[in-house]
Amino acid sequence: MSRIRIAIITIGNEILRGRTLNTNAHYLARWANRFGIELCRMCTVPDDKRAIHAALNDAYGCADWAICTGGLGPTTDDITRQAIAEYFDLPLEYREDVQARIEEFLRHFGIPFEAKHRSLCYVPQGALVFYNRKGTAPGFLIDRGGRVLVALPGVPIEMRHLVEDYLTPYVQQRYGYRPLPSERILLAGIEEPEVHRRVETLIDETATFIDWGFYPHYTNVEITLRMRPEVGVAPAEVEERLRKLRYRIEELFGADYVGSGDVSLGRAAGAYLKQLGWYAGAAESCTGGYISHLFTSDAGSSEYFKGAIVSYANAVKHEVLGVPMEVLKAEGAVSQPVVEAMVRGALRVLDVGVAVAVSGIAGPGGGTPEKPVGTVWIAVGDHSEVRSRRFHFPYDRLENIEITAITALDVLRRWCRARIYKSPLPWT
Ligand code: ATP
Repeated sequence: MSRIRIAIITIGNEILRGRTLNTNAHYLARWANRFGIELCRMCTVPDDKRAIHAALNDAYGCADWAICTGGLGPTTDDITRQAIAEYFDLPLEYREDVQARIEEFLRHFGIPFEAKHRSLCYVPQGALVFYNRKGTAPGFLIDRGGRVLVALPGVPIEMRHLVEDYLTPYVQQRYGYRPLPSERILLAGIEEPEVHRRVETLIDETATFIDWGFYPHYTNVEITLRMRPEVGVAPAEVEERLRKLRYRIEELFGADYVGSGDVSLGRAAGAYLKQLGWYAGAAESCTGGYISHLFTSDAGSSEYFKGAIVSYANAVKHEVLGVPMEVLKAEGAVSQPVVEAMVRGALRVLDVGVAVAVSGIAGPGGGTPEKPVGTVWIAVGDHSEVRSRRFHFPYDRLENIEITAITALDVLRRWCRARIYKSPLPWT
C-alpha cells in the first residue's frame, strides 16, 4: 500500500488576525492521523493569491497532497478558487450540476438562486466536485501529474461533512486506507508525569507497533494508542493486542481509569449509576449549570441524570435546597457545612440516589485572604453519608468553573464505583 504525505493549508485573514480559531487544521490533522497519513506541513496564509501559490510550492516540496480550506465563498475576498486554477493552469468552468445542487440547498431556506451565487459554480476544469449539503460552496479535488489538491470550504461543519462524504471514501478507494486500529483511554484525577511513570514498561513492550499519545486536560489524561502504519502485524492481531493492553492499563490505574472508546466522566458515572439503580443530581453554585451540561452532553444521560439546581444566590440555597440561613451567614456560601447541606437538599428535592454540590469563588473578584479566588468546596453523598473537600484552583474564572465541574463529576463517578465495589469512598 503506497503511503501519501499531505500538507494542510488553511486560508483566511480572520485566522491570522486571531478572530477565528483554526479548528479545521486540527480536524484535518486528526483525520490524517486516523488513517496513518503522514502530515508534513501545516500553515495558514491570508486570502492572497501570491501567498496561496507560495504555500502550495512549499507544500509540494514535501507532500503529494495539499488540502486547503477557506476562501471558497461568494465574496470578493474569497479568491482560493481562482488562485488554485491559476496555480495548475486550469480554466474555471461553469458547472450546471453545481448550480442545481446550490438551488436545492437554498430551497430549504426559501432563498432563490441569484447572480451572487454564480461565482460558486465555477470549478477548475477536470476537477472532481464535492457537492456541499450543508452550505453553498462546493469543494473539489484536482489530480495533476501526481500532485493532488483538495479545496474545502472554510466553515467547519461544511468542511467536515465534505471530508466524511468525499475525502474519506476517496482515500479508502484509491489507496485502500482504513482507519488504523486504535484505542482511547480516559484517566482522571492523575497527573501526566505519574501516568508516564506507570506505563513506562508497557510503552517499551509495545513501542514497535503502537504509537502512544498523552493528552492532559486539567487532571484528566487521555491516552491514545494507535497502530503504527508501517508495522507488518495484521490489524486483527493489533486489535487483540490493544484489547490486552487496555486491560493492563485498567489494572494499573484502578479507580483513576474512567474507561475507553468514547467514554466520558458522565458516561462512566452513568454506567455505575445504572448498576446501582440510582439517579444522580447536582446542586451548583459557582458552576452555574456546567455539571449539568457535562452530564447532558452525552446522549442517553436521561437514564441516570435527573437534573441540577443552580443555586447561585443564597436565597435559592436556602429556599430550594433548605440550607439554613444561619449557616450561610455564619460560615459563608463557600464553606463545608453549606456544600454538605446542598447535597442533602439536592438528594431530597431531586429525589436522587446520589448528589454532588459545589460552591466556590471562580473570580476574578470575591476573594478574601481566608478564601482567595479559586477556593471551592465540593461535597458528594448518598442517603447514608456525605463527604466534602476544599480545593484551591489556580486558574481564571472560566477555567475554575470548568475544573470544578470536572472534579465534581469525577468524585460522583468514584463514589458510585466505590459503592459497587465496596471499596473505600473518595476522600476517606
Ligand atoms: P463561505 O461560503 O462561508 O464564504 P468559505 O470557504 O469562503 O465559506 P471562509 O469565508 O474562509 O470560508 O470562512 C467562513 C467562516 O468559516 C469563517 O468566518 C470562519 O468562521 C470559519 N472558518 C474559516 N476557516 C476556518 C478554520 N481554518 N478553522 C475554523 N473555522 C474556520
